[in-house]
Amino acid sequence: MHQRTVPCQYFAPQKIEEALEILSKYGKEIKVIAGGTDLLIQYYDRLYEVGYWLDLKNIKELKEIKIYQNQIEIGAMVTHTQLEKSEDIKKYFPILSQAAADIGSPQIRNRGTIGGNIVNASPAGDLLAPLMAYDAQFRLLSIQGEKLVPAEEFFIGPKKTILESAQLLTQITLPLPKKKTYGCWIKIGKRKALIIATIALALIVEMAEDNKTVKDARICLGSVAPTPIEIKEIREKVIGKKFSELDFNQLGQIVEDKISPIDDIRGTREYRKDVAKNIMINALEEISSARRSYK
Ligand SMILES: Cc1cc2nc3c(=O)[nH]c(=O)nc-3n(C[C@H](O)[C@H](O)[C@H](O)COP(=O)(O)OP(=O)(O)OC[C@H]3O[C@@H](n4cnc5c(N)ncnc54)[C@H](O)[C@@H]3O)c2cc1C
Repeated sequence: MHQRTVPCQYFAPQKIEEALEILSKYGKEIKVIAGGTDLLIQYYDRLYEVGYWLDLKNIKELKEIKIYQNQIEIGAMVTHTQLEKSEDIKKYFPILSQAAADIGSPQIRNRGTIGGNIVNASPAGDLLAPLMAYDAQFRLLSIQGEKLVPAEEFFIGPKKTILESAQLLTQITLPLPKKKTYGCWIKIGKRKALIIATIALALIVEMAEDNKTVKDARICLGSVAPTPIEIKEIREKVIGKKFSELDFNQLGQIVEDKISPIDDIRGTREYRKDVAKNIMINALEEISSARRSYK
């Protein structure tokens, strides 16, 4: 039986400004809560030692997906179900929608949020590799002002980010992809539902006007390093090349060589390296067939 050791106070403001004031007043003493699907499990044993809770559930602005001419803005409290179902996300960022659909179970997807997935910063967080591949930026807000941080600078270790205690993650912005941009998301785990990824891959390839020459490419992986990573060597290898002339096996080998995953209960280092190569080849084949059927 757990005993309360400190009094507990709970705030659920309706405005971002109010939330920022509360955060700045209580600093490290306060815990931000979104869907609670990571937090309440992690903190179960220490639940009554958290003095103050800041719940974001009443801030409507954080639950919106807004589309602009060149970018989309996703509120930090947007749930995985919203991401999965949103027509705009499906149209412009299909692999983000697919990754959200692969998370946990319907209950977890209904409560869990994009902001929670990001700030929790698990190396196996499913949205992280797709967000990096789509060049996401995170809007961090405090009463001091705002900072826009690229996804690849935000994560600094397992469950570690550059977010400061007085800052909230409020929005995630993604540039709208150009026409003839193709994507592939592959998550490998031990079973079909409620799995934590053993390895996950997000590949985005932008083709030039001719739909034959690679204009840009990003391949990001989850669960192979302390943070999600991009394999930048792939980008250098493929830009300017004809897609039909790419050597998929060689590109898969680069991915295998560039990662140094660890052994854990979900898979050995060797298994992960082997799988990384194979899913890279599969992703390239999938993009190849999507490119050929482009109308
Ligand atoms: C059964 C189960 C299955 C799961 N399956 C998966 C899975 O398949 N894939 C996967 O990636 N994850 C999975 N998860 C983990 C979890 O559901 C997700 O990471 C989810 O996105 C977390 O979001 P949340 O809103 O619940 O975060 P919370 O638990 O509320 O918060 C997580 C962390 O982020 C902080 N935080 C949240 N929002 C903000 C914000 N806007 N600004 C600043 N800090 C913030 C909190 O303080 C906390 O430290 C699973 C969890 C469970 C319990």
